[in-house]
Amino acid sequence: MTNGSDSTADTAAAKAGAMIVPVSPFQQNCTLLWCTATRRAVVIDPGGDVPRILAAVKQADVTVERIWITHGHIDHVGGAAELRDALKVPIEGPHLADKYLLDHVVESGASFGMSGVRNFAPDRWLAEGDTVTVGELAFDVYHCPGHSPGSVAFFNRDMLFAVVGDVLFNGSVGRTDLPGGDHAALIRSITEKLLPLGDDIAFICGHGPGSTFGQERISNPFLNGSLG
Ligand SMILES: [Zn+2]
Ligand SMILES: [Zn+2]
Repeated sequence: MTNGSDSTADTAAAKAGAMIVPVSPFQQNCTLLWCTATRRAVVIDPGGDVPRILAAVKQADVTVERIWITHGHIDHVGGAAELRDALKVPIEGPHLADKYLLDHVVESGASFGMSGVRNFAPDRWLAEGDTVTVGELAFDVYHCPGHSPGSVAFFNRDMLFAVVGDVLFNGSVGRTDLPGGDHAALIRSITEKLLPLGDDIAFICGHGPGSTFGQERISNPFLNGSLG
């Protein structure tokens, strides 16, 4: 989360640890994130391959207390019900607007050959302005519709760090051709909610390498005007 040149950022970054576990046929970035002080952890977007996620939890030697979901697409939620059963922890997110996706996880999984997935409801729906916590870390919730109607992003000001799901990628933005997608809404979510948080915010996204909001503001063709 930092290049080590800024002592403030170093201190902040040391408050958390993270491990990315690629899951599902879509190589989705399931993220194990923990509070360094308490070793309490959250699994973000358990899209499948639950044994692999549990192995990462063991390797990191942390105690998972929550599951957070950025949005309802199969590659982000395929393992959520199974992981909740295995760990006996609550699922938080996404926004209620993605309920139609969580009600059809089984059909969606079947169309991609993913077996063992289940429909589920989270223990807590999230909305703009909510706060979620893990250990001593608190993250603000931003409702960022567009890629899906109920997409949310998690942001920690102290660590200059965000988890954005499929809203924004390194060099691209979320697809909006799936049912419920809205490209104009997506661009508004990015330009009116995420980018104003600051150029120095580092983020993890749902697929591929992360980036910073500043890097994307300047070089992302969907955001810098080069695509019109
Ligand atoms: Zn998605
Ligand atoms: Zn995805």
